[in-house]
Amino acid sequence: MADSNSSIETKLIHAGEPEPRIGDAIVPPIFQSSTFEYQGAGSYDDIRYARMSNTPTHDILHAKLAALENAEAALATSSGMAAITTALLSVLRQGDHLLVQDCLYGGTHSFVFDDLPGWGITVDTFNGTDPDSWGALVRPETKAIYAETITNPLIQVGELEAIAAFAKDRGLVSMIDNTFASPVNFRPPEWGFDLSLHSATKYLNGHTDLAAGAVIGSAKLVKDVHHMANHLGGSLDAHACFLLHRGVKTLAVRMRQQNHNAARIAEFLEAHPIVASVNYPGLESNRDHQRAGRLMDGFGGMLSFEVSGGVEAAQRVVRKVRLPIEAPSLGGVESLVTRPSTTSHAGMPPEARAAAGVTDSLIRMSVGIEAADDLIADLDQALGD
Ligand SMILES: *Cc1c(COP(=O)(O)O)cnc(C)c1O
Repeated sequence: MADSNSSIETKLIHAGEPEPRIGDAIVPPIFQSSTFEYQGAGSYDDIRYARMSNTPTHDILHAKLAALENAEAALATSSGMAAITTALLSVLRQGDHLLVQDCLYGGTHSFVFDDLPGWGITVDTFNGTDPDSWGALVRPETKAIYAETITNPLIQVGELEAIAAFAKDRGLVSMIDNTFASPVNFRPPEWGFDLSLHSATKYLNGHTDLAAGAVIGSAKLVKDVHHMANHLGGSLDAHACFLLHRGVKTLAVRMRQQNHNAARIAEFLEAHPIVASVNYPGLESNRDHQRAGRLMDGFGGMLSFEVSGGVEAAQRVVRKVRLPIEAPSLGGVESLVTRPSTTSHAGMPPEARAAAGVTDSLIRMSVGIEAADDLIADLDQALGD
């Protein structure tokens, strides 16, 4: 059994595993049963039922996910958006005010700005790198502050430590989407965040064959999220729990290879004559480099870059690469490329997109675990004539 001092590599394999093993099986079996024999449960939330996310298969996964971020508790959900929306709805009530970082994942952006106001919740943005501006945004009804560890698609890292401290100081619930970093590179509870949210569809599962989410944090807050999840119903099926539990075991080896590959590729791109700019916090020239290095154990597997020659040149590169597949999403073992202006940020008005720095010629790459040399050789031919 892994204890809290074990390294993350060890926890990925051993934390949460049942003791004694079930039927001596090295891999815990899937409890593919929607309901369980009544054992005198006192409350609704304690009835063993698949939607309540409390089958033995769920319990094992939850214990492992919590251990990865040194947190007390975790809840798996049916998608990253289920984790995010359920967590927000468990924290916020009518009349509350929410502060969100000014560059959010698209689905989160439209949920907080298009849906929450209809339920009487107001929302304002804050600049993640300008702590002096935050105080003026807080109102008596401000309840929570919501950030992302690494923003998409410009791969920026804000003043995360200051955000958690600010929330503590003002009595706000601090929430952070940690999808892009993964627990290998950043563990929000260790820096004082109350709730860490993941699209487990991405790095946690890592194999591009499953949709899932996770909420990780204190026992008290995760219990509230779990209670809300029991009502909203975004639970993860036992078979998908099993697949996520299988996928996550290799997170550390995958993530280290992705950190390494992305750093190599970022350096290659930065030196290439037709590349106008590269966004990767691991580059010494990057404006977030010092801060990201202080906060994170690795700079991640996501980068973006612009080629000179505008949209056509960018489209040509995306068409010419042979190894990375043109697709949205990220965090899998295979490299993917996308132009965010045509995918993740396509729904934004062009002016808003430009203001956010997302140009039509920006290319985002989710770096996989292929050999760095092969990826670089491929990018080199794609950037050539
Ligand atoms: C993909 C993603 C989500 C949404 O997750 P789903 O599993 O697609 O619901 C949320 N946040 C970030 C940062 C993501 O990349």
